[in-house]
Amino acid sequence: MSQNDSVFDRAKALFLHFAEPLQLEQRYAGCSLLRRLTTPDKTITFRLSLQMDDGTIKVIDAYRVQFNDDLGPYKGGLRFHPQVSLDEITALAFWMYLKTAVVDIPFGGAKGGIKIDYQNLSAAEQERLTKKFAIMLTSSIGEDTDIPAPDVNTGAREMAWMLDAWRMTSGSYHRDMVTGKPLDMGGSQGRVESTGRGCITTLAQAAADAGIDPEGATAAVQGFGKVGRNAALELVRRGCRVIAVSDIDGAVFCQDGLDVPALAEHSDRTGSVAGFPGGQAIEHGGVLTAECDFLVPAALEDAITEQIAPDIRAKIIAEGANGPTTQDAMRILHDKGVIVVPDILANAGGVIVSYFEWVQNRQQYYWTHEQVIQRMTKKLVQAYRRIADRAGQRNTSLRQAAYEIAIERVVGAMLERGVQ
Ligand code: NAD
Repeated sequence: MSQNDSVFDRAKALFLHFAEPLQLEQRYAGCSLLRRLTTPDKTITFRLSLQMDDGTIKVIDAYRVQFNDDLGPYKGGLRFHPQVSLDEITALAFWMYLKTAVVDIPFGGAKGGIKIDYQNLSAAEQERLTKKFAIMLTSSIGEDTDIPAPDVNTGAREMAWMLDAWRMTSGSYHRDMVTGKPLDMGGSQGRVESTGRGCITTLAQAAADAGIDPEGATAAVQGFGKVGRNAALELVRRGCRVIAVSDIDGAVFCQDGLDVPALAEHSDRTGSVAGFPGGQAIEHGGVLTAECDFLVPAALEDAITEQIAPDIRAKIIAEGANGPTTQDAMRILHDKGVIVVPDILANAGGVIVSYFEWVQNRQQYYWTHEQVIQRMTKKLVQAYRRIADRAGQRNTSLRQAAYEIAIERVVGAMLERGVQ
């Protein structure tokens, strides 16, 4: 597989590699398990026409891929980005069902997206587009079938618009149709920070196993959105010095540790970490190769390639983003002895709290912030322990062990359900 192959083809090749020791084809001959596990259940591709503020019409591609629902309703975020493609959304939906399986929550996996330079639309255009997207998906989405959530360039505001669109078309209020909502529309305490905070929870487990104390350790974070920012804040909370941070527009460095809350304020005010007076500007790549204990890639896929992997100096990487490390880079990091907490575990805090939000919506009874964070932490630590123990027993990577656990769970449900 080369980097020019599609994201999904590469994700599939990686899956087949990790599934190999399970010998599914031999153990369950004739069941076509590998084919079923690597083929999406349903792919929805559609065109959206958006009326711009100046009256012109833009034609836009949109997708929802429902990959697997053997363990429960489809679940997965929405990405509004100019590089969105069916291929990328399919790969993200694929990883999503492995993620829900590995942390043992009763959901399958899906992903959706719109190919658009969303950030350059006006707020009115953004609302029209999001509501139209929601309406077009009405017959395919629902609290017991497929539950969307935020991803790149979407957040609580978009989830509120989606809920509102469905409320207007269906005439009834189903808060559990979407997660990641604002608190006063049925969102959960802790959802905003859950992915970043959960990422550092898993990183801290791996650090403890490696004998590294986060207190006084150093870290670099790529991406300063919902995941990266909250990961950086959690690192600071745990006494770690965050020495380098980047976003799409720039990167900043400070050997003594950046003032992350001040950086967050600066980013809110200016739209970027670039120009932060409390650090010096560096090249984007400098964040990934900074000399530090921990590295958190929290931007997009394929950030850590075979070109950059040899220069990475971190001891532990926690993958906040989905698919940030290419397969060749994984091999290089493994040979260098870098511990990698894989994405399907490291960024699962978000979907765990989404599950809690769905539960709270169905009960119409809401938990405190402390309860949410405690329960998320418990689930992540349990999942980490199972993965690390298996990896230790079989002398494999955390990623290999995580994939095996996820695949076994889904296969178990697949076989129990029967095929008729
Ligand atoms: P976001 O849109 O809030 O933030 C993305 C950040 O990445 C922004 O700061 C952007 O400037 C930065 N970025 C983009 N390209 C970059 C580059 N080349 N170099 C440096 N920075 C760059 O998105 P998010 O929700 O934080 O998602 C980030 C990643 O985490 C994605 O891979 C997403 O799929 C994954 N993820 C998100 C969630 C969630 O709950 N939001 C859950 C699981 C996984």
